Amino acid sequence: MDWTKILAEVESVVEPSRGQGRVADYIPALAAIDPNKFGMAVAMADGSTHCIGDADEPFSIQSISKVFTLSMALRKVGDVLWQSVGREPSGSPFNSIVQLEKECGIPRNPLINAGAIVVTDHLVTQVGPEIMIDKLLTRLRMLADDDAILVDQIVTESESEAGSRNRALAYFMKSFDNLQNPVEDTLRAYFSHCAISMNCRQLSRAALFLAFDGTDPVSGTQMVSSEACRRINAVMMSCGHYDNSGDFTYRIGLPGKSGVGGGILVVAPGHGAIAVWSPGLNEAGTSTVGSLALESFVRQTGWTVFV
Ligand code: GLN
Repeated sequence: MDWTKILAEVESVVEPSRGQGRVADYIPALAAIDPNKFGMAVAMADGSTHCIGDADEPFSIQSISKVFTLSMALRKVGDVLWQSVGREPSGSPFNSIVQLEKECGIPRNPLINAGAIVVTDHLVTQVGPEIMIDKLLTRLRMLADDDAILVDQIVTESESEAGSRNRALAYFMKSFDNLQNPVEDTLRAYFSHCAISMNCRQLSRAALFLAFDGTDPVSGTQMVSSEACRRINAVMMSCGHYDNSGDFTYRIGLPGKSGVGGGILVVAPGHGAIAVWSPGLNEAGTSTVGSLALESFVRQTGWTVFV
């Protein structure tokens, strides 16, 4: 494939829409980000990356981290996880509480906030909040082959200070005994992993194992079983964009996960992993320009799970 041509076409498709969408401001530390930023990286099986725009500028990965915590939990905790979190699309916003009462504190899936808090809680049970974050960072650094990956403490604090909704979700689940640890311990870990700062190049590289049956094709390290890998991709496909998941799958047709920092991570099984970043969001919290870029990308490459 002529990557220079493909990515130049992506850039020209998004150019008229640059800056569209609304930057997330409910986390004050994210509100000041320049909405005109745009970067994209495509990681290939040999670990090489094809990049455009601001692909080397770090951003807050936010909910994209939920894919990595889910991967860790399926490896460390196994299928017991599914007793405390479902795997159905929610059809509701990422921070919705409404379904939890009807379903006894069991969140619909691990990619909405409530579900990700449960996943984090399982990991905190194993090693505590600090070591859990250390282990996650170690994995991401190893996968991205880059020790520069860090938790942004300013974003962590900002999210914690503005974290009433996530606290409400967590205490509500705790009232149904669906959290094992003190709520503040679990939330500290949750806010920290959402505040991890990565750039598109690192993110696409770190997710390659999801495109290659659970094994990082560069180091040969098995990160999750091939069955778990298929399942993670299935959950991303059906639930990765909250109440925008159907539309995203219709338009892009690949498993993906959005974050309110404006990043989207997409997995093209057998081909590679793609990360795109542009901070303006649609109503559901998915990057507007990032989605346009991915639409152009899949149209040109034909990368799809539907062949
Ligand atoms: N950290 C954010 C929150 O808990 C994640 C939301 C998102 O990226 N969709 O609200």
